[in-house]
Amino acid sequence: MEPVELRRIARTISTVENQAEGYEAILAQAYRLPRWADVIGITGPPGVGKSTLVDALTAHWAEAGERVAILAIDPSSPYSGGAVLGDRIRRTRSSGYTNTYFRSLSSRGHVGGLSETATDLVAVLSLFEFRRVIVETVGAGQSDIEIHGTADCTVVVTVPGLGDGVQASKAGLMEIGDVFAVNKADMPGAESAARTVENALAAAYIGEPGINVSDPHPVAASRPPSLTPGLAALRRRHGDISADASAWVPPVIQVVATENRLVADLAATVDLFVDWSERTGRRAERGRERAYAQIMRALTARLLAPYLRAPGADQWPAMVSTWIDKIAEGKASPVEAAQALVEGAEK
Ligand code: GDP
Repeated sequence: MEPVELRRIARTISTVENQAEGYEAILAQAYRLPRWADVIGITGPPGVGKSTLVDALTAHWAEAGERVAILAIDPSSPYSGGAVLGDRIRRTRSSGYTNTYFRSLSSRGHVGGLSETATDLVAVLSLFEFRRVIVETVGAGQSDIEIHGTADCTVVVTVPGLGDGVQASKAGLMEIGDVFAVNKADMPGAESAARTVENALAAAYIGEPGINVSDPHPVAASRPPSLTPGLAALRRRHGDISADASAWVPPVIQVVATENRLVADLAATVDLFVDWSERTGRRAERGRERAYAQIMRALTARLLAPYLRAPGADQWPAMVSTWIDKIAEGKASPVEAAQALVEGAEK
């Protein structure tokens, strides 16, 4: 990309990110696009090689001629060890392609919420004809789960020696993965790390990794219908072969990001999932759920605006924190707090 175009993209993104003047018009245009970029979320505990893998995937898709954008969430957080510089070093392969774009995004300080901002930015990047947006999170907090709602495919990355994959399940990552990558497969224990993830998945899924087409599935029919909330969410997202003509079972792929080994397979699996989501209507359904959340968020902001502009609104943060104290001490309820704040503002 020409420097002038890079600057234009950066400026547009900042306008939207900060909800600065003119952002509504940009979004109005972006949300009218017939198609957005495919969004690939890459998450996993710190140090598993996410940045290296994102670099490899970006190079893979860029090599195929696609315009690829990377949104790195909170690369400067303490968890990733001040990786802003590191990212630049690790983006050794993909930075050579002029059809790629890199942008970091703080997980805090957005007027909406992180996932709303990320969704808006995906729309904006689509306006600049990016075919793919890779969102990289640090895998150490809420942002991973939040971003998951924005991704068309979420890849959860682990490595050998993490200790029976407990880390991933603790962080709730097992439940957001559409595809699992065991990176650093050049190290001992990759096979067993992959087995561990597969065994964990076997508790929730029936069928073979990838797309399953069977009607009716012989084993599925004998499964008890009682589902935990986590399982129910998985079935909604990936289908249940006893009820759906086509269901997805997350594949586990062993890769070596540093050597580019099986990165092409991982990329192909991601594409397979995105296509499947699209064909089964799940992508559209997720888009509708997202739109609902976005409308509610925008509506709340709109309804609150007059109160926040009213004289004395600068007292709100202090008043809110007083109410938080009261609630924490068991002396008030949140509803009472909201009522009092609104009445105070209307006086
Ligand atoms: P992140 O914190 O998850 O983004 O991890 P990084 O991408 O920063 O990688 C952490 C370290 O693991 C770096 O020193 C990488 O060079 C190394 N690394 C990444 N991928 C591989 C791999 O496939 N094999 C090996 N042996 N090391 C890797």
